[in-house]
Amino acid sequence: MNVRTRFAPSPTGYLHLGGARTALFCWLFARRHKGTFVLRVEDTDRERSTEESVQAILDGMTWLGLDYDEGPYFQTHRYDRYNEVIDQLIESGHAYKCYCSKERLDEMRQLAMAEKRKPRYDGTCRERTDAVAGVDPVIRFKTPLEGKVVIDDLVKGKIEIDNSELDDLVIRRSDGNPTYNLTVVVDDADMQITHVIRGDDHINNTPRQIHIFSAMGVDVPAFAHLPMILGDDGKRMSKRHGAVSVMQYQSEGILPHAMLNYLARLGWSHGDQEIFSEQELLELFALEDCQRSGSVFDKTKLLWVNQQHMASLSEDELGTALAEALEQKSVSSADGPPVATVASVLKERSQSFNEMADQAAIFYQDKVELDEKAAKKQLRPVAQPVLEAIHAKLTATDNWQAESLKAALEETAAELAIGFGKVGQPLRVAITGSGASPDIGDTLALTGKERSLARISAAIEYVKARALVG
Ligand code: GLU
Repeated sequence: MNVRTRFAPSPTGYLHLGGARTALFCWLFARRHKGTFVLRVEDTDRERSTEESVQAILDGMTWLGLDYDEGPYFQTHRYDRYNEVIDQLIESGHAYKCYCSKERLDEMRQLAMAEKRKPRYDGTCRERTDAVAGVDPVIRFKTPLEGKVVIDDLVKGKIEIDNSELDDLVIRRSDGNPTYNLTVVVDDADMQITHVIRGDDHINNTPRQIHIFSAMGVDVPAFAHLPMILGDDGKRMSKRHGAVSVMQYQSEGILPHAMLNYLARLGWSHGDQEIFSEQELLELFALEDCQRSGSVFDKTKLLWVNQQHMASLSEDELGTALAEALEQKSVSSADGPPVATVASVLKERSQSFNEMADQAAIFYQDKVELDEKAAKKQLRPVAQPVLEAIHAKLTATDNWQAESLKAALEETAAELAIGFGKVGQPLRVAITGSGASPDIGDTLALTGKERSLARISAAIEYVKARALVG
């Protein structure tokens, strides 16, 4: 079988996590089966659809590397085709014009709710043959009154729905606009989609769509409904949980492949393996291994996955990504040590390039800001002679390499007859502004001689000023 999948976003916002995960699964499935991945923009909601959103979705897919083989198709370009199918459905007796007024439908709905029944259209116009003058009708699909629909969902298993549960849904509004369930089916049929893979928020639409496929006389595709992504309170992930554009994660310094790896694991698993190369995902992905219930989005885990992928990058790749992250923070990497060297020192200590850039910024700036707590603790009067001794020793040190710098500091500690920590801690605060940094030898080496000495002098001034205030 020539597998064809589609990703069909509505361009009413950014590409969010759920959308990205759907796109990923459609893409993986198509690639795995040497099939075709189609992109279709469902822009029929003209008020909420925007070009910026189309662009945001395309940008998100490009960042993640989800390349499509066909499209983007736009539903708003296909109205003639939808109308053609609607007319055929009326002709073949599968759809009819409904003239019921909004007031009448509202009344019917309220009555049903008061009687605790599911609101549904009562079929008044089903067999009607005459037109009502001055009223633009809606077109309704004639849902079979008896029998049931069976969905053999590739993720959820067998689902049966009685037709008596289903309404005669509107497929064209009185303003002439076709509705979602109609356009989706016409497109899936025309684009010869073999596997509809989408979020399970659409599962209620599926039986209705199956009826429309059958009425059109075309093959019904296979369906795979993916469980929702949940926030940590177990509710469907939304903005409230920080569910933002996938591009947000780019600016947070997450690698696109780490994002893909993490998204793949939100709902799919392969034994207890967590880290997958792209090749492995493409070889291993299977809809049968998707779980049926929702999965909780876990930022801590995403960061961990990211760190694993960061660790496998080459020095050059790390350096390029670090330079970009620094640039995003308006820190130029021109004046300082090679980014690749900094990145390889910091890679074990950071879970994202954003975090790495925060730690690296001190190597590219003249001054550092002292963290108040760290300065209070380490830059006390007792530290003054220590810092002065270090300053003198380092002024005389020409071999500005981590090893020899470390040796120079050890000598200073020995000369002052104090432990290494008493030298290292105030020095670390002087150089980095904070109490935590990589190895102090590496830190000094990366900071460079001139900047290191200037920062030690500034710390000495800080201690003196503090002594004066008392
Ligand atoms: N346009 C729909 C959405 O963004 C998806 C429709 C579908 O996959 O069938 O939710």
